[in-house]
Order: sequence, then structure tokens, then C-alpha cells
Amino acid sequence: MKILVLNCGSSSLKYQLFDMQGEAVMAKGLVERIGIAGSRVKHVRVSGKDTIREGDIPDHTEAIKIVLGLLTGADTGVIASLGDISAVGHRVVHGGEKYAKSVMVDSSVIASIEECIYLAPLHNPANLAGIHAMQTSLPGVPNVAVFDTAFHQTMPPEAFLYGVPYKYYEKDKVRRYSFHGTSHMFVSGRAAEVLGRPIESLKIITCHLGNGSSLAAVDGGRCVDASMGMSTVPGIIMGTRSGDVDSAVALYLVEREGGAARASDILNKESGLLGISGLSSDLRDIESAAAEGNERACLAVNMLTRSVKKYIASYAAVMGGADAIAFTAGIGENSDSVRRDSLAGLEFMGVKIDEAKNKGLRGKEAVISSSDSRVKVMVIPTNEELMIARDTLKLTQKKA
Ligand code: AMP
Repeated sequence: MKILVLNCGSSSLKYQLFDMQGEAVMAKGLVERIGIAGSRVKHVRVSGKDTIREGDIPDHTEAIKIVLGLLTGADTGVIASLGDISAVGHRVVHGGEKYAKSVMVDSSVIASIEECIYLAPLHNPANLAGIHAMQTSLPGVPNVAVFDTAFHQTMPPEAFLYGVPYKYYEKDKVRRYSFHGTSHMFVSGRAAEVLGRPIESLKIITCHLGNGSSLAAVDGGRCVDASMGMSTVPGIIMGTRSGDVDSAVALYLVEREGGAARASDILNKESGLLGISGLSSDLRDIESAAAEGNERACLAVNMLTRSVKKYIASYAAVMGGADAIAFTAGIGENSDSVRRDSLAGLEFMGVKIDEAKNKGLRGKEAVISSSDSRVKVMVIPTNEELMIARDTLKLTQKKA
């Protein structure tokens, strides 16, 4: 069974085609600058040459037509015909409170994703564009929506409510949702497999540290707390997002900079590692500047590791301990110094990193705690696309 996984951004589209027998990726790619001059497609076949295609692509429907053409083309293809695609899995950023699990897409699901646009104004419209384009290009092929928010829906009210009048929750669903749920679910599940223990018996802290970052407390396989909020701004300091700030700071920016739209841009696009260092949002640039003694680069990294440490300790407190801490995503998988410094000082709660195992480890699954560490620390490369493909397979097989 072949499953296509789509992740549509406002001007981009990432895709992967899986052969679910062996869960192998057959082809993957990225369409950039959709609707903007200079569109570009990079199509990568696992066995075969890569293809780059340049030329304007006005919308997601056109982008998907091109991708489907590449997947079946004589020189670029990996399947004989579009009939080989059994189902399509879509990453959908916001499912509100309605979806705690992935679902088959029908008109009521589309209506619910539309209802959540006010919560994810950049992402949900793009995700919907992908669903509509697929319905047009592959009529009759089932679509599955996999929500970034779903895994976090098990948080109890004391974790997801803000201390503002309750009516805003009742009326407008103002609450913490948090994101990256597919990654936290994949990584916590894999961490349990690595430990060889049932997830139901484990307390796991998952640290998804990338350009966007979030941490989650996963108790018995259920998320009980997570660091992003109603938006993707809160939590730890990120590439360009501020992380947690006093709401008075946000209000100050609204007044000082002349409006909510500008303040939102500052908090989303000009803050975080970029805002503090004044150099870059990319940790690699910051780490090399810090190594050369740049003080603000050092400060940015210190702010990052301090905030990760604080969340880890608070999630251990919420769960009454931790069996495992798992690092994932670009920074979590690749930066040994961020892992080391985030965990420094957590010896009191049974965390002992083995620096020989940690140092130089990039992008590979491994346990990096010492053998006598009460809390197992691991690196688990995330695979959101595979998780989406698995859910898509499960739901479409159930229906068949
Ligand atoms: P992601 O959003 O998951 O792709 O992660 C992007 C972040 O990971 C960026 O800040 C990168 O600088 C960081 N990253 C990727 N590779 C490395 C590396 N080898 N060392 C340090 N940071 C890295």
C-alpha cells in the first residue's frame, strides 16, 4: 500500500511517498515559493536521480499536480500510475478541542478545520488548500487529517487553562493547545520501545528542539502538559519566537510599536535566538559565534538551555518524577552542547549524562545517560511523516 504524506505551509509543500510494506520512503520533496515569483520544486527519489524544476506555481492545486506528475513521470517517477496511491495523509496544524486523534476527512472535518482558522491563521488555510487540491486531483482517494494539536488534548484543565476569566474559554476556547503533537507522540512511543517497557508504565519528557520548539510531559502515554500555548509563541526561547514573556511585554509592544500586527511580528519573527544574538535564528551560526567569544551569542544559548532545564524540572515535578528524557528535532538531535547544558544541574533528580556518549552524536538514536542514571536520557530522531503515514494506513484500513 502506497501512502502520500503532505505538509502544506502557506507558500510551501513538503511531501513523502511511503511504501507501507516495510515503511520505506520511495520519494520525497519540497515545493517552495508557491504563489510567489521564483517557485521551485526539489524532488528526491530514494533510488534515482534528484529533479529540480523551476517556474512559477500559482497555487497549491498546481503544486500538487506537478508533484503527482513527478511521482509518475517516465524519468522522475516511482509508481506506475496515480492509481497506486491508496490514501493521502495531511498534517493539519490546528484541530481545536474537537480532535484528539487523526480522522478521515469529510465535509464536517473540513468545516471544523475552517472553524479553527482563527486559532492558526497562517497554517490551517494552507492545510485546507492541500486537502482541496488532493480532492480535485485524486477524487475517490481517501484523505486523512493528522493534527498537531491532537496528542495534547489529554492535558487536564489545570494544565490547559490560563488564569483569565473562564468565560473566554467557554466563549472563544481561549486555552493552551500546544503543537508538534505528532512528533511528541512518535518520540515518546519510540523512547518506550528503546527502554523495552510499556509506555503505560513510563513518565517521559520529550524535548522537540528545532527552529520551533516545545516540550511535553507524557505520563503513561498521555500528554499531561506541554510548553506551547494557544499560539506557537510560548514555551522556551526559539529561533525567532520569544517563548514565554510576561503578557505586559506583549501589551507594551502593541502600544510602543503601533498595533497588534506589528507586535505579533516582533514576537514571532524578530525575537528568540535572533532577537537576543542580533546575528541569526540558526543555532549553528550562534554556536560558532559563541565559540569565538560573541557575548550575545553566548547569552542566547544560555537562555535556551536554561529554559529547557526549567521545563524539564517542572514537568518532572508535575508527573512526580521522570523515567526518560528524549531529545529530538534539529537542535535536540544535533547539538551535544545544548543537551549537555540543558541537563547540567539536574543531577538532583537522577539525571546523569555520559559525556562520551553525548559528545559528537548527531541525528542518531542513542541513549546518552550513564548506566547508573536513574533517568534515561536519549536522542530520538523524530519522524512526523512516518507517524502521519501510519495513522493514515490505520484509518483507511479500518474503513476498508
Ligand atoms: P528544525 O526546525 O527541526 O529543522 O531545526 C532547525 C534548528 O536545528 C536550527 O536552529 C539549526 O541550527 C539546528 N541544527 C541543525 N543541525 C545542527 C547541528 N549540527 N548543530 C547544531 N544545531 C543544528
